Amino acid sequence: MNLLRSILLAGSESRWLRDRATKYKFAQRAVSRFMPGETFEEALEASRALGLGTVLTQLGENLRSVEESKQVTRHYITVLERVHESKLDVEISVKLTQLGLDFSREACAENLHTLMERAKTLVNWVWIDMESTAYTDATLDIFRRARSAFANTGLCVQSYLYRTAADVETLIPLGAGIRLVKGAYREPPEKAFPHKKDVDENYFRLAERLLSQEARARGVRAIFGTHDPILIRRIEEHARSAGLSPDALEFQMLYGIRRQEQLRVVEAGHRFRVLISYGAAWFPWYMRRLAERPANVLFVLRSLFAR
Ligand SMILES: Cc1cc2nc3c(=O)[nH]c(=O)nc-3n(C[C@H](O)[C@H](O)[C@H](O)COP(=O)(O)OP(=O)(O)OC[C@H]3O[C@@H](n4cnc5c(N)ncnc54)[C@H](O)[C@@H]3O)c2cc1C
Repeated sequence: MNLLRSILLAGSESRWLRDRATKYKFAQRAVSRFMPGETFEEALEASRALGLGTVLTQLGENLRSVEESKQVTRHYITVLERVHESKLDVEISVKLTQLGLDFSREACAENLHTLMERAKTLVNWVWIDMESTAYTDATLDIFRRARSAFANTGLCVQSYLYRTAADVETLIPLGAGIRLVKGAYREPPEKAFPHKKDVDENYFRLAERLLSQEARARGVRAIFGTHDPILIRRIEEHARSAGLSPDALEFQMLYGIRRQEQLRVVEAGHRFRVLISYGAAWFPWYMRRLAERPANVLFVLRSLFAR
């Protein structure tokens, strides 16, 4: 399974595969399991149909020019405005490489600032995704700067990285939003726990820290971004024994994954959002979804033979 995961993650970085795979109908059929459509309108419609809070993110990672990052910023501003008009409970999540991080840290920080300003006037929230370790330091730096000017922002952190426990200690005093996930990229054993059980255990330790009295007193908005039922039960149990009410816990899961667990979490009285992705540049993102559960490759094969 580890070998298949590595192959899929290596494939996610292949431009050659991306250019071909996205043209095939069977691949488009397979991806629709995790994505209601390629357009923002379809993502908004899915938010309405779900009747739950959502987080929207436009797919696409490394860009070709700074001008493209300005277009992405304008796109997200339109999204914030349309969400405001729709009166739906929708937040957004962005990748800093989409805001131009590969070209200039300053230009990226400026784009984020523009976005955050609009989000503030519309009383909305902007999440920042965490990408591969090539970007971790820059992402933390830009996030810290944004957070010093805006309260309505949160950052994703990954439990597979050894460094995350120390990073979390620097984020807690900021009272920031912190979305804890396991991590979806190909990372070397010098940087990330190679064994899943260690990633899971670190996730739980970090969750305990994010629910600590100190973190709550600082105003940390902790999000648990996972579909792992064992971890979710452990976190619920921990929160109960710490005397927290169910709505002190907030979970987020990806569209189309473990729907029964999504409903159970809502029924248990926890806060909950579905993260919905959209956009034509879905290939690397979809390969990471396959790598998370290599059995998903069977669905792709089935789509190949479906009419
Ligand atoms: C809201 C949200 C935001 C995220 N943001 C980021 C980010 O910014 N940076 C980043 O690196 N990663 C991000 N991720 C992805 C994350 O790092 C994991 O790769 C992903 O969530 C799978 O891990 P898991 O916690 O669900 O646990 P796992 O142990 O991988 O999965 C637990 C169970 O969930 C189900 N499951 C999980 N993934 C799939 C799948 N793809 N298809 C079908 N079933 C599946 C399976 O039943 C599996 O047994 C995000 C995830 C979520 C939910």
